[in-house]
Amino acid sequence: MLRLPRRLQCRSVTPRLLLLILTSSWLTLVSAANAAVPGLDAGSHYDSPVGQYLSYFQESEGAISPSEALKGWQEGRFRLSGEAIPSFGIGAPPVWLAFTVFNRQELAVRREIAVHIGWIDQVEAYFFAEGTEIARQLSGDRIAVRARPIADNIHRLRHEFTPGQTLVLLRVATPDPMVVPLFFADFDAIQQRQQSENYFYGFVYGAIVVLLLYNFLIYLRLQLSRYLFYTGYLVSFLAMNLSYTGHGMLWFWPDATNWQAWAPPIFMVAFACSGLAFALKFLDIRERFPKLRRTVVGGCLLVIAIEVVAIVTGKQSLALVAAFSFVLVFSTEMLLLGLISLWLRNPVAPYFIAGSVSAVLGALITALTVWGALPFTFLGFRAVDIGMVLDAVFLALALAELFRKNQQARQEAELASKMDLLTRVYNRRGFYENVKPLWNSALQWQEDVAVAIVDIDSFKQINDTFGHKAGDDALSEVAARLSALKREKDVLSRWGGEEFILFMPATTVAEAMSLGEHCRKVIAEATFVVDGSTFPLTISIGICHSRSRSMRLDDLLMAADQQLYRAKHMGRNAVRGSSFAPRSDSESEAHSELEYTEADKAQHEAQWL
Ligand code: GH3
Ligand code: MG
Ligand code: MG
Repeated sequence: MLRLPRRLQCRSVTPRLLLLILTSSWLTLVSAANAAVPGLDAGSHYDSPVGQYLSYFQESEGAISPSEALKGWQEGRFRLSGEAIPSFGIGAPPVWLAFTVFNRQELAVRREIAVHIGWIDQVEAYFFAEGTEIARQLSGDRIAVRARPIADNIHRLRHEFTPGQTLVLLRVATPDPMVVPLFFADFDAIQQRQQSENYFYGFVYGAIVVLLLYNFLIYLRLQLSRYLFYTGYLVSFLAMNLSYTGHGMLWFWPDATNWQAWAPPIFMVAFACSGLAFALKFLDIRERFPKLRRTVVGGCLLVIAIEVVAIVTGKQSLALVAAFSFVLVFSTEMLLLGLISLWLRNPVAPYFIAGSVSAVLGALITALTVWGALPFTFLGFRAVDIGMVLDAVFLALALAELFRKNQQARQEAELASKMDLLTRVYNRRGFYENVKPLWNSALQWQEDVAVAIVDIDSFKQINDTFGHKAGDDALSEVAARLSALKREKDVLSRWGGEEFILFMPATTVAEAMSLGEHCRKVIAEATFVVDGSTFPLTISIGICHSRSRSMRLDDLLMAADQQLYRAKHMGRNAVRGSSFAPRSDSESEAHSELEYTEADKAQHEAQWL
């Protein structure tokens, strides 16, 4: 029976009733924390985290015992969580979570309580029936995997809920981000969830390992350090992920509880440092912004120093706060470096930015899911890992793009080394590379083959009269015209100075003479214009033809040069030729000198005009 203070007692019934309602609703509000929590039904299935069934109490003034926690709960000092996944931030004091489980059946029901985060240090569950502790179970990554109730990367506890009401008090302690996605389900359901999660991580780790090995092999083959940096970035991502998901402890260091406490911050710092080292190398920041590079490297060294101090002094929370802040700064820095290189028109910057944006978006989606701003889904919860895989894929694409660009540049340089810059036809090197196979095949099959050396007449005078620049223009113009006149199979090169050479495969002596004459005529009839004034230009051509099994190319060229000398000697603007060819198959090779006769001219004009 509620006793009201004397001054609140009223005579009339209506105000007394009103007061009673007000007071009782106030009392209801006070005890809302305990009373409004509906409790979990042991017979129901819960597919998503059960945070809204929890109330919580934070140990702000030192650790309390389970019985003190029970007392606190009975006194209504627990507050409703209200969120599907309660989250208390990084370095938060230990939290007691309370929930009641109703078993309305006649038999005991076995249920699992799973804290779906690997990095939680301590998970202690105390089970109370009618105010008495009936069971307790411990897990968390400060406990060796085999000593946990169920050996897994997350923290799974089991209890047989007897008919009636059981109160569960769960103490969760960790200096890492205290996020508690709590699942309440039967063994099979949790096992199934773990299995699909294992497939997911199989995919994530598989993708990362494949990219990692592939790029490391490329590094071994090409010895380009950016591939090594990228490999380092992926290795540290893998190590970081393995350490904070609890997979590292489950698979690689099941008993190393002390190492597990330090592994996540160490690998997080390694991840961010190697990511930045890769970005600096990959985006060529060193050459363009040496100061920016020094600042970034300085920042990395500072964080490494803080981590060393934290490890030496045993301050795990300092290590974690430094590591988390650094990873946050790291994401921004990566985006910034990407934007700077985009501004510098680095061709791989778009890939780099796409990768960084995926990683940041993934982390954001996970953060929003954990905070309850997005409805809880498995993909939302693990978006950070998906973002990282996408980042790794985009970076691999960027490396491939860079490889392609380098290859292209090398091919262009290779081609440029065979070309003459001024006239844009092959140089001597290009001539020999292109002509050698044609010449060898001509020898092998004893085919007709001819070569023409073209020399511009009195070119020195053009230079002297109109200047060197006009001479250059004239040279380019002659090269362009000869290129247009030659047949597709012919190879035109600049032999040096004002001389060109035209190699004509599968060409009879008559065809070669006719083509030479045609070229001479076209050039002689063309007008060359420099600074508004026109000047005539002629060429002399020496041709040599062969149909031989044993001739040397240089001998053919020398013979063509002799013919050029003849053409010059005869007054320039002329074509002269010779041939090394058997007159019939039974005859031995004979050398005959040729002139372009009037009859030839008539035939040629019929052919070309
Ligand atoms: P010929 O009819 O006997 O061949 O007389 P020529 O004046 O053409 O021959 P010569 O060998 O006496 O002179 C060639 C000139 O070509 C000399 C050189 O300055 C000029 N020359 C060579 N290479 C270039 C070039 O790349 N650009 C320019 N403008 N002139 C060049
Ligand atoms: Mg000349
Ligand atoms: Mg010359």
